[in-house]
Amino acid sequence: MAQCTFLDRCRNSFFSSELAEDRIMTNIIKSDFCMHAAQSCARLKLYKKLGETGVPSDFYPYQREDANKLIDKNSPT
Ligand code: SF4
Repeated sequence: MAQCTFLDRCRNSFFSSELAEDRIMTNIIKSDFCMHAAQSCARLKLYKKLGETGVPSDFYPYQREDANKLIDKNSPT
């Protein structure tokens, strides 16, 4: 898979948050998700389901269960 299409958005939110000071974690996340496996990213799932405003800036790509809970919480009943 090509680079994630939401990379610019995450650069201005997630990668500019407190994570910006942790270069090692930033590089791991970009390698594990942004550059090769965005389809597994919990942030990407939120972007697609809830839109840009539905993705907290400090939400990690690993938080798949939390993403499902957020989606359930924000879906019409
Ligand atoms: S953190 Fe997730 S949504 Fe953001 S650029 Fe990387 S893969 Fe895409």
